[in-house]
Amino acid sequence: MGYGTACLKRLGFVKGMITSETLFILGTRKPTTRDIASAIKESGVDAGLAGADHRADDASYQEVTCRSALNRVEGMPFSWTLNPYRGCTHGCHYCFARRYHSQFEMNSGDDFATKILVKTNLVEVLARELDRPAWKRERVAFGTATDPYQPIEGHYKLSRRSLEVLTRARTPVALITKGPMVVRDKDVLADLTKAAGCSIYVSVPSVDEEAWRTLEPGVAHPLQRLRAVRELVDAGIHAGVLMAPIVPGFTSSRSKVEATIKAIADHGARFVGAAVMRLEDGTRAHFLKFIEESFPSMLPGLTRLYGRKEAPKAYRDEVHAMVRVLQDRYGLNRRDDDASKTGAKPAEESATQPRQGALFAR
Ligand code: SF4
Repeated sequence: MGYGTACLKRLGFVKGMITSETLFILGTRKPTTRDIASAIKESGVDAGLAGADHRADDASYQEVTCRSALNRVEGMPFSWTLNPYRGCTHGCHYCFARRYHSQFEMNSGDDFATKILVKTNLVEVLARELDRPAWKRERVAFGTATDPYQPIEGHYKLSRRSLEVLTRARTPVALITKGPMVVRDKDVLADLTKAAGCSIYVSVPSVDEEAWRTLEPGVAHPLQRLRAVRELVDAGIHAGVLMAPIVPGFTSSRSKVEATIKAIADHGARFVGAAVMRLEDGTRAHFLKFIEESFPSMLPGLTRLYGRKEAPKAYRDEVHAMVRVLQDRYGLNRRDDDASKTGAKPAEESATQPRQGALFAR
């Protein structure tokens, strides 16, 4: 299978003895995410993912098992996150989650978009966690480190099945995605809305076609995403749009922001939020390399603006102020008030808060 000798030894395949840790190599047990991280560390990405499934989209899909489904987080407007996959074939160049791939010794560039880990036992583990008497039904943020509706979800249906379990456990959810496939699950989302409340944040940073082609090479057209918002709202689901991230020099001009907010309003979104791009760790290295190769004339300006992981506060404030003005102009601020009158769940926090925008700036 291509695992190095040292790795096999570490996993327990020593002196002819087969231990539980090695069974996945023989096909009787799937590796855990930790097994895969160790195998990649010791033998490299290709050898470490030698058992991965290759599909028509050229990505490799490595099935793994997870020990826990819900991850506890601090300092966020929610306490728990849930991510069925690692890596994302949407491959957005600005993706905040690229840095998480480096935790697996995979690079935050091509590997992030082509080497995907699939947590096949996620739903069963989640059901056990939600069944515990200590579970307080706190809100779960779904899709913070990878898109839960990237194309492979059509095959595994892990996101759909997780939502079914969360509905049964009456646990509120905030889900973020760029995948119009989310409308497939509007029946479950409608049930969850009634059982506990849910908000769907569809990420549409801009309707500008050139920016879409350049920055989001694997994602559905922005208008397709907005049509998904319309369909969710028509099904009684609290759905809106995050313009996250707004990328300086690509999607930050007033005309592009206004065209996007107008399109968002025209498609019936219940709210809109925005956040300026952050560049951290692996994301920073990948994005600036991409700019250097494809738009070298923009590199000096972007490097100056991003002396730190965030653009200067004055710049971010200016962008957020522009969004607020346009939000008012197109009536988006008033919609959640209307929703509360009709019994729909209001947003748990203002969608324009920079904190939340940063949270979902993937
Ligand atoms: S921004 Fe979202 S959709 Fe794009 S690559 Fe990252 S996780 Fe996937």
